[in-house]
Amino acid sequence: MFEFGRPLAGDLGGFLAGRAVLTNESGVVVLGSTGSVGCNALDVISRLPERLRLVGLAAGANWQLLAEQANRFHPSAVSLYDHSLLDKLGEALNGSGATILGGQRGLLELATHPDCHTVVAASSGTATLPAVLAAIEAGKTIALANKELLVMAGSIAIPLAKAHKVNIVPVDSEHSAIFQAARSGKGSEIAKIFITASGGPFRDSSVDQMAQASVEEALAHPTWSMGQKVTIDSATMMNKALEIIEAHWLFDLPAEKIEVVIHPESIIHSMVEFRDGSVLAQMSPPDMRSPIQYALTFPERLAGCTERLDIGHLASMSFHPPDLERFPAIELGYRVIRSGGTSGAVLNAANEVLVEAFLQRRIRLTDIAVLAKTVLDHHELIAEPNLTEILAAADWAANEVRKCIV
Ligand code: MG
Repeated sequence: MFEFGRPLAGDLGGFLAGRAVLTNESGVVVLGSTGSVGCNALDVISRLPERLRLVGLAAGANWQLLAEQANRFHPSAVSLYDHSLLDKLGEALNGSGATILGGQRGLLELATHPDCHTVVAASSGTATLPAVLAAIEAGKTIALANKELLVMAGSIAIPLAKAHKVNIVPVDSEHSAIFQAARSGKGSEIAKIFITASGGPFRDSSVDQMAQASVEEALAHPTWSMGQKVTIDSATMMNKALEIIEAHWLFDLPAEKIEVVIHPESIIHSMVEFRDGSVLAQMSPPDMRSPIQYALTFPERLAGCTERLDIGHLASMSFHPPDLERFPAIELGYRVIRSGGTSGAVLNAANEVLVEAFLQRRIRLTDIAVLAKTVLDHHELIAEPNLTEILAAADWAANEVRKCIV
């Protein structure tokens, strides 16, 4: 969520109100530190010790890696969601001095920690949703990698961030690109955005080939190295559906102004077309550390740790529209924007269970979009839900999917 066209620094009357500007050393809390984005965030933080200080780490159940990270980075506090593993974590942290927290309360404490300036929301799933909302209320900047959070609860998170003058800075590479390109104009001057997609491993496959795809084939992403859930979402292009919804919330754009374009090389991470016909693109090698660093140092740009583009030797870049027959999941993103209410929570929760079922080899890859659509078709929409209703809709959707795949 970003108000375009405002001066970014020194304008205390402006929307960004100075909160986004880094102090000399900014405290960072990473929720989801043992996942792919979390590990990359720690790498970025460790390379900018003058500017970023790790305050807290939170993980779900991977106590071994959490302990390893805490022993290396010395945060003030660590939190493990799974209470039953806290003893093991405690032993592994022997003498580190970090406060050990657990469960939902641990997440809340970390997200509102007084030394924290920025919360990196990098966990997948919805366990961190209440903690991120609490961080917004506490005035923390949110570096948002968890797109599910806006897909499910954008209708709550965005107005809350506006009310508390809190920046939600995207970490998702496409949204980071749009965020960066959009800074050269005002929101009202944007004609359209183009969310680029690599097309995933089945970019050139037939529907039949996709229906027969093994878990291993679906996990072999051609350009990005990511966690399993998002890699399967890339293979079905459900990831683009979720990103369409995320862009709608972050940039306050209607469905008609959001387009998906296949760009197999993953060099341009997304584009903004302004009303005068100018199109601005953001380019960099496909490395998540790049958007993570930008989110953590925004509005400044610091020397990066990632490879540079070799412009002189760039091979050609290609673009084409997505094939909606082979990738019907994309349409579901537009449908959710138009329906609003609890539909995002339903799509997201249904997809989570379906991806899990595919990884367990219980359904085919092509079943994911079909069954997600069926669940959306049967959902009784609540137009203006509260958080409890959103979570209940998600539970309902997960149960519906489980009934379908038994
Ligand atoms: Mg992305």
